[in-house]
Amino acid sequence: MLIKKEHFFKCPSCGVNIQKELWNIADARLFPDVNKEILDGKFNIVLCSKCKVEFYAEVPFVYQDVNKKLFITVFPEIMKKDEFKIRKQLNSVKDEKNLNKDLKDMIFFGIGSLVEFLKLLEK
Ligand SMILES: [Zn+2]
Repeated sequence: MLIKKEHFFKCPSCGVNIQKELWNIADARLFPDVNKEILDGKFNIVLCSKCKVEFYAEVPFVYQDVNKKLFITVFPEIMKKDEFKIRKQLNSVKDEKNLNKDLKDMIFFGIGSLVEFLKLLEK
């Protein structure tokens, strides 16, 4: 399973092109530290080599925790306007793959929603 993936994007501060490997799948069972990284705002953080500004690289990723039966796809917040279309696409993929029906399959937009959700789980 692909855990990290090469991404290309622009630094939001100076606009320089950046190429970096980012988490594609955050698996809380394989990497127990990933919850802390997400909660501390260190997940998929990129340091621009030119202007030295740190920023969160907003790329889609999957957060999964098999022990808690969670399967969460996190999309960039800007994609929320396409939510209906995305849900429809994901549902057709799910039918094809015949994904485990026990899994709680969720969609979030923006890492902030995931942070809030994980905080609730920890309570
Ligand atoms: Zn920069």
